[in-house]
Amino acid sequence: MSSGDNVGFIDRQTEFDVLVVGGGIIGCWTAYKAGKRGLKTLLIDQDEVGAGGSGGVLGALMPHMPERWDGKKQFQFEALHALPEEIKLLEDETSLSCGYNRCGRVAPIMNDTKRGQMAGHLPNAEKHWLGVYEWKILNKSPIDNWPIASKAEHGVVYDTLSARVNPRRILAALKQAILQDSMITLRENIGLLKYDETVCRATLSDLSEIKFSHIVLAAGTNTFGFVAPSLSVPVLALGKPIKGQAAILKADLDPTWPIMFDMGLYVIVHKDGHVAIGSTSEIEFDDPMSTDQQLETLIKRAREFCPQLKDADVMERWAGLRPRAIGRDPLIDHMPKAKNVIVATSGFKITFGVAHKMADVAIEHILDEKRTEVPESFRIPAHLAKARKQARRAEI
Ligand SMILES: Cc1cc2nc3c(=O)[nH]c(=O)nc-3n(C[C@H](O)[C@H](O)[C@H](O)COP(=O)(O)OP(=O)(O)OC[C@H]3O[C@@H](n4cnc5c(N)ncnc54)[C@H](O)[C@@H]3O)c2cc1C
Repeated sequence: MSSGDNVGFIDRQTEFDVLVVGGGIIGCWTAYKAGKRGLKTLLIDQDEVGAGGSGGVLGALMPHMPERWDGKKQFQFEALHALPEEIKLLEDETSLSCGYNRCGRVAPIMNDTKRGQMAGHLPNAEKHWLGVYEWKILNKSPIDNWPIASKAEHGVVYDTLSARVNPRRILAALKQAILQDSMITLRENIGLLKYDETVCRATLSDLSEIKFSHIVLAAGTNTFGFVAPSLSVPVLALGKPIKGQAAILKADLDPTWPIMFDMGLYVIVHKDGHVAIGSTSEIEFDDPMSTDQQLETLIKRAREFCPQLKDADVMERWAGLRPRAIGRDPLIDHMPKAKNVIVATSGFKITFGVAHKMADVAIEHILDEKRTEVPESFRIPAHLAKARKQARRAEI
């Protein structure tokens, strides 16, 4: 341990207090925060920062529906509420913009029955969103033709909690902050091959060995493969990669406009006026990185909903994998029999809104603190129970 005295579990003889595996949004926040807490940290990525699912183009930060409130929704709400402050610190430190804006979201309502249901969530939003953010039912969108009136004949839900961030810019800012911090070492193009938590040693892809006190496994979809054997479940029962495709359209729209969302279609104006469109959700796929007709169909839908995009050129098509654990919720916990192995993955479609808080939880495990309320459904026993059930079903 290099500085600070209040660190419970740290073995002062080890080379690194923390080895963070994976330079996605979760791994980067974790390394960044570990450095801030005075932990000597090594962040490795088998490729480079942002090479995984985090290096995409969309960046929607949308809350769960304010109904049937539970620990997961509370965790996400607190994370979304706190994010602007965390981003401001990061931007001040690095002088880099993360492209964040609490722009809100507008979502067309399908029919009058749905409108009644959506209106029913009003008191829930007031209660759970602390009266700070609004959930409104409007007869038309606050922005003309966003979406086009014919797609919103029953009105729209408009919320002021949703936000957007530029995934590549926030990763660039985190990487910059990590490079600026003398407590953190970043090594790209070097992967974790295996680790042995009992002797606190990791073998890396160049066959070098690293001694660590704690290891945080934030290797995206590869995380399941590292931990499933110790949990005695098949990897695919614990979690799966879900492919997604997205695109950026060249446009010059007002970056304060809300996210337009309709049944899996996200249309997001980013800081530079360009528009991100996403995302497909594919369980079966041959090539995780290719784009195809499914993306073209999505772009066509976006143009129908948002006529401002009718002639906008496609600047980039992108595909990546989202890690999704069997429990569908984020997976953040220490391993049952190894408190120095922390698993942090499976943010699935909400990762960018909760990664900084998952990182807090990882650091609390390392420092043996307990500040953050973590829903049971995020913990290994809950995911494991579902994984075992899944494995049994597969045997039948
Ligand atoms: C099309 C699409 C759109 C999306 N849109 C949104 C959105 O709007 N909002 C949102 O919140 N989320 C969104 N997501 C989901 C989100 O991007 C992912 O859930 C998230 O990026 C996962 O982050 P991560 O840090 O867990 O993993 P990753 O970003 O996948 O990072 C894991 C890293 O680990 C590295 N790695 C893997 N194995 C090893 C190893 N053995 N050793 C060292 N390094 C290793 C990889 O190279 C990678 O860089 C989207 C995803 C996709 C595909």
